[in-house]
Parts: sequence; structure tokens; C-alpha cells
Amino acid sequence: MIGWAVVGAGPQGVAVAVHLVRAGVPAEAIRLLDPHPPLTAWRTRAARVGMRRMRSPATHHLDVADDGLLAFGARHGQALRAPSDRPERSLFEAHARWLLTGLGVGARWLAASVRDLQRHPASGWQLHTDTAPVHASRVVLALGSGQRGRWPRWARALRQRHVAVHHVLELQAAPTAERMAVVGGGLSAVQAALRLAHAGHAVWLLARRRLRVRPYDVDAPWFDDGAPWRFARLPSSERPAALAAARHPGTVPAQVARRLLDRLGEGAGRIRFVAEPVVRATPRGGGVRLHTPGHQVDVGGVWLATGFDPALPHGGWVPRVARALGLPITPSGHPVLDRGLSWAPGLHVTGALAELQLGPAARGLIGGRWAARRIADHHRRIPTSRFSPTSFSRSSTNMGVPRSNPTGG
Ligand SMILES: Cc1cc2nc3c(=O)[nH]c(=O)nc-3n(C[C@H](O)[C@H](O)[C@H](O)COP(=O)(O)OP(=O)(O)OC[C@H]3O[C@@H](n4cnc5c(N)ncnc54)[C@H](O)[C@@H]3O)c2cc1C
Repeated sequence: MIGWAVVGAGPQGVAVAVHLVRAGVPAEAIRLLDPHPPLTAWRTRAARVGMRRMRSPATHHLDVADDGLLAFGARHGQALRAPSDRPERSLFEAHARWLLTGLGVGARWLAASVRDLQRHPASGWQLHTDTAPVHASRVVLALGSGQRGRWPRWARALRQRHVAVHHVLELQAAPTAERMAVVGGGLSAVQAALRLAHAGHAVWLLARRRLRVRPYDVDAPWFDDGAPWRFARLPSSERPAALAAARHPGTVPAQVARRLLDRLGEGAGRIRFVAEPVVRATPRGGGVRLHTPGHQVDVGGVWLATGFDPALPHGGWVPRVARALGLPITPSGHPVLDRGLSWAPGLHVTGALAELQLGPAARGLIGGRWAARRIADHHRRIPTSRFSPTSFSRSSTNMGVPRSNPTGG
């Protein structure tokens, strides 16, 4: 039996493990359950779209101290001028690797996909996985917003006929052809088109509407540390609408929009931008003909960058578990949580599942840090022994800026 089963080894699950270790939980008491090694989904998607720089600022990372990434960058010759600077993706990932290795969290990965969750009289929780069952006294659900890409109906029909259409956010390989179409109008779509053009492909970027430029996909005031408390003061019935109003999916920062403008044109290495929806698609030779109201586009391959489906909290196996366990749910389908993001004793959630507590930034990196901090604080307040026959060291450890290694040694 283990102390903490963190389900999902994406940035949010890793942030939880990092905060727990820094709060005194031995790494050996934690397991990160995920079918893929830590941060694989993040790295695959970011590399697929050729993302060079983070969209979020340098305070959005996986460690405890606000300036953890700034300090790490300064020590590794990549000094950022201010916390509002956007770090290079390589720096963010090097920092994450340093935490995973230095705190012993990376070694706690268990290759497993969780399918069900039940209470267990002896251990607290039993997790049913695609391999062996796992017993844990505490569980954290850090599942991300969805793992399957959203496939428009015309694309689903093509897929059934084995035509070259792939989703950039899914982890399977996404082959390319000389002439490519990227479908979508947000950051992933624009970056993917840029990456393909940079590699010499002739690219069509097909978006439903003109580009919308914004620095972040969430209004920036929702990034400050007081934002979750401000958000939680709203009546709960108003929070879902407030989430929607503060979020701007399908937008791109100005720097990326400028790079697109520089690449517009026809032929190899250029991008043709069409602000019209794809209404139909037909297989043609080994490729595809895409129809928009004003164009017919013949390409050898299509990359979809159309977001995730279904997005938590409504999708996946969690609603079924909630019904079976009688866990409280709001009319909007969100878990009813306490301040420590507990849904039931010993069961915590992060990300989309915690967004009615943490606000519009809950699904991003900063939301992961807030969730991790709350869960670690909750652990310090509520003795683990209440949930587990085994007891952990609860001594307080270094919560400050790490020095030469993440344990501060
Ligand atoms: C290209 C791209 C760029 C982005 N840039 C930024 C940025 O700059 N700043 C920012 O804040 N956000 C950014 N985001 C949003 C970003 O996805 C999130 O910030 C971050 O990935 C959220 O982490 P997560 O752990 O919640 O989700 P994910 O990264 O999706 O990780 C979830 C993990 O849970 C695992 N999992 C799911 N279900 C189960 C299960 N049943 N059993 C076991 N494991 C399971 C998955 O395999 C996955 O590894 C970006 C997203 C993309 C696609």
C-alpha cells in the first residue's frame, strides 16, 4: 500500500508530488500513476507544435517558491529579466527534470491508467488500473483537461476511411506530407503551421474565424495569488459563467501572430491563411480535399488543432465514480470541494476539477501550483495517520528557493 497515489504525471501531478515532498512527505510514500512517464504528454504536444517559448510567465512552473524558475535560469545561464518574462520551453522543462530527479519524484512513476476508484476499509482507497489494483491512503486526481482530441464530424468520417488526418494534441505519431492543412485558429494551430512551414512544407491554415490576439488565454488578473480567493467569494452559481468570461481559448499572443504574418504566402515554406470553417472533406488520391465556403484545398495530410474532447469535469470516468461513491457535484458538473481541494476524506483534485475553487487559471501551470500548495498545506494540517496505517515524517522541510539541488543540499 502507498501513502499518496497521484493520478496523472502531467505538470499538475508533478507539481503536487514536488509540493508534497517539500512539505515533508518522503518521495517513497508517493506514486505517480500514468500510462506515460512524467511530462510525456506535455513534451509530446509542445514538441509537435514546435513551441519554443512558454505562453505563461516565469512564475508559472512546478516548484514551491515563486522565483524557483527564475533562480534556476540564473544558475544555468538563461537569466530572465523579470517574473513576467516568458521562459523558453527548454528552460521550463530542464527545471522540471531537475525537480523530478533531485527530489526523487521521477522514480516514483508507475505505468498505469486508472479506470475506477473505490473506498477500501483498510487502505482508504483502491484504484483499478489497466494493470494491477493499487491501494493508497490518499488519492490526488490530476488528470488534465482531456486526452483525446476533438474531431469535427467531417474529420471522423475521414479517419474511418484511413485518410491522412491526425490530431496534434494526441500522442500518436502525426505524419506529414509535402502539402499540409492545419485546422484550428488558436496557439497550437498557428504554432503547428509555423513548424511545418519552417520545415519546408506548403501549409494551409484553416480557422473558423480571423485570428484573435491576446497575451494569455486567461485574463491576466486571474493569475495573481489572490485570484482564487477573489473567485471563491463569488456565489457558486455565478462561477461557471465567470470562468467562461475570463477565458479566451483559440487566441494567440502578438509575437506568434507576427511570426505568422511573416510566413504568409504560397508554396513551400509558406502559410496560406483562410478564415473559413471546413464544411466537408473528401478523400482524393492518397490525400484529402477540404471544402470551405470559399475554397477547395487539396493536401496530402491534415493536422487538427481543435482542442480536447471531452474536457473534464464532464467527461471521462470521474462522473461515474462520483455517482457510485455519492460524491457531491454542483449543477455545472464540478466537484464540491473544501479549501484543501478535498472531495472526500483523502481524495483531492486539481485542474479542471478544481476550477470552481481556483478560478479561470485552474487548468494551467499556475493553477497546478495553487492546487499543489493547498493539498500540501492540507496534509500539514490533517495528520496522514488519520488516513493511513503507516505514518510519514511530517517534519517541515525547505519550502524556500532551492540552491544547488532541489532538496536544498
Ligand atoms: C502546446 C501547448 C502549450 C501550452 N502552453 C502552456 C503554457 O505556456 N502555460 C500554461 O500554463 N499552460 C500551457 N498549456 C496548457 C497545459 O496543457 C497545461 O498547463 C498543463 O499541461 C496542464 O497540466 P495537467 O497535468 O493538468 O495536464 P496534462 O498535461 O494533460 O497531463 C495529464 C496527465 O494525466 C494523465 N492521465 C489522464 N487520465 C489518466 C488516468 N485515468 N490514469 C492515469 N493517468 C491519467 C495523462 O496521461 C497525462 O500525462 C499548453 C498546452 C499545450 C497543448
